[in-house]
Amino acid sequence: MPELPEVETIARGLAKRVTGDVVESVWLGQKKEPLKSPASEIAATLERSWIAAVRRMGKHIVFDLERDQVYVARAPSPARGRSADRRSNEIVSTRVSPITPAQAGVGARPTCNKAQWIVHLGMTGRLQVCEPQSEVAKHTHAILRLSSGRELRFVDPRRFGRLSVAQAGDFDAAGVEPLEVDLDRFLALFRGRKTPIKSALLNQKLLRGVGNIYADESLFRAGLRPRRRASTITRDQLAKLLVAVKEVLKEAIALGGSSISDYVNSDGEEGFFQLQHRVYGREGEPCLVCKAPIKRIVIAGRSSHYCPRCQK
Ligand SMILES: [Zn+2]
Repeated sequence: MPELPEVETIARGLAKRVTGDVVESVWLGQKKEPLKSPASEIAATLERSWIAAVRRMGKHIVFDLERDQVYVARAPSPARGRSADRRSNEIVSTRVSPITPAQAGVGARPTCNKAQWIVHLGMTGRLQVCEPQSEVAKHTHAILRLSSGRELRFVDPRRFGRLSVAQAGDFDAAGVEPLEVDLDRFLALFRGRKTPIKSALLNQKLLRGVGNIYADESLFRAGLRPRRRASTITRDQLAKLLVAVKEVLKEAIALGGSSISDYVNSDGEEGFFQLQHRVYGREGEPCLVCKAPIKRIVIAGRSSHYCPRCQK
């Protein structure tokens, strides 16, 4: 299951490939599960939209979209010589094509020209940028045809992934962004919570996108046992934990940088980069600091790994 660093890496890879492209048409499969918004709304939102940005919010990949009139007015970005030519062609075709009231945003505020396409990869979801002639993988649920001639495809064998759209750019994932949160906000998240710190770290309503592996690794670096009640942890220890969470996530993202292109293009189970785990998945193996055997316990159905000597 892709965790925050993987999603960040994928979002960055997609941003490089598709920012500035325009969605010309959309094909959606028959399976209902991947569609969190109605198919007709997803198609209407995406078609003829300009991809202004691709970014990660929690474990979601968010495509910021702008509608026709917005990109007509936009000056071509100097960094993208080739796509600037391409875009000027689109401007012509946009002018001659009929625009429905919904697409033109008639009667709506100008800010309604913004929208978002939100992708959650679930367990096995993948986004591929490929040439139209490349074979369509089994379990493909969406194909976006781009004005650059390429296609952006969503493939998901187990169908836990979700596609949705939000109008006017109002998508807001729950929780705070772990890489951006400051200490005061972080302290407030755990104040008075009697749940184990591990569960609190995994609670998506508190922090966006910290998964099981990264929670274990962060707790090890901060010297905190996963079962410690959040409310009993001192301010200094929480400050250390925040540093650890950011460190672990940033290291994993940095490792991901080199494998971006392989992953986005991949149509198989190619291995993702991996952070050198210090505790996760190392039950019984010696702690890298003190040599004590790493312990594994289960908290709320999830495996937790820790060093009984280094973590208190
Ligand atoms: Zn140890």
